[in-house]
Amino acid sequence: MDYISRDSCRICFSKDLVSFLDFGKMPLAGGFIRPEDVSAEKLYPLTTAFCRHCKEVQILETVPADVLFKDYRYVSSTTTTLSRHFASYAKSMTERFLNHDSLVVEFGCNDGVLLKPFVDLGVRAVGVEPATNIAKLAQRKGCFVINDFFNLNTAANIQRQHGRASLICANNVFAHIGDIHEPMKAIVSLLEPQGVFVFEVHYLLSLLESCQFDMIYHEHMLHHSLMALSYLLGLYEMEIFDVKRISIHAGSIRVYAQKKATGRHPIAGDVLLAMAQEQQRGLDREETFLTFGKEVYQKRDGLVQLIDSLLQKGKRIVGYGASGRATVHLNFCKLGAEKIPYVTDESSERRGRLIPGMHNPIVSPEQLRQEQPDFALLFAYNFFEEVMKKEQAFIRKGGRFIVPLPESRVVDPVFFSEAA
Ligand SMILES: [Zn+2]
Repeated sequence: MDYISRDSCRICFSKDLVSFLDFGKMPLAGGFIRPEDVSAEKLYPLTTAFCRHCKEVQILETVPADVLFKDYRYVSSTTTTLSRHFASYAKSMTERFLNHDSLVVEFGCNDGVLLKPFVDLGVRAVGVEPATNIAKLAQRKGCFVINDFFNLNTAANIQRQHGRASLICANNVFAHIGDIHEPMKAIVSLLEPQGVFVFEVHYLLSLLESCQFDMIYHEHMLHHSLMALSYLLGLYEMEIFDVKRISIHAGSIRVYAQKKATGRHPIAGDVLLAMAQEQQRGLDREETFLTFGKEVYQKRDGLVQLIDSLLQKGKRIVGYGASGRATVHLNFCKLGAEKIPYVTDESSERRGRLIPGMHNPIVSPEQLRQEQPDFALLFAYNFFEEVMKKEQAFIRKGGRFIVPLPESRVVDPVFFSEAA
């Protein structure tokens, strides 16, 4: 068996789970494949469930981490939005929590998109990254990176060589871990008594608000609300003392946590407000998610109808942005290369490969610019403004973008002056 199907919650181990969305069999969303590997490609069931006990939303299937992440193709620094975000993140953390000899540890450090700004600020920083190809990119930028998973063993090695951490960071990774208790134990052991654990994750409330079912795939095992995170941290005598909603990935949160007994930060009012808002929106009730499940099927049908009606009019439609979101939409809507002949992507890591499952080729955005199709289906709608600025020539020549969510629609052209 190359995956495990759970019947208990990943956080509290309760069996009181209610399944609310079944995608059927799906490929690994980030597993952009080489044409020669198509025959060996595997599909896995994908089922989403809500835990009645601790309120965590999760998928029930676990594909082993070495299958999911050893050859990961997602490189954070490819987008300037993310690069800017993390540069300002490093500056703000340094000012708020660090002094001249503090150690920062980031697990799931990707290509050093946050680590490098820390290094540039003169901060001692250690990264941990399991994907070998991605870890190398960070190392080449001059970051100190351990190519491994973050667990008690790695934490002990870091402590021996560098001491304990004043700040531990984890960004867009805290949802990607099958056994979340492993990094939690490592955090508790490596963090100084007054240290701070800061992480960014896609936010369940944002997922619900704009029906972002395209964030649900095998790599994203957990979909966190603050109330469920608070429960998880509480198991390790930790607490959330601050939270900030951020626009990254179409709706994330930055969560600040500390050890309950020794942490020195007062609990911000925003934490209590956000918890109250979650309750008001029904994040603690299964009905909310059962309704969401039904809505997802309607959204899928809406996009299929829009694409089919444009194709019937003889329009040519290509995909834009080969992300996990693209894999979900193309597979869930069954949009193969006969409908969407290719998907463009900036990342040279992904170009020349195929969209998992549906096998649409991934090409350079240059192809879109040269060929000028009628429509580009924008999977990377979370980088909407950046894309609109970059593709002004395509838009000026009459090219139009389609966004799949929150409602599938053709967006009105956005023009920027030459100076912008
Ligand atoms: Zn639970």
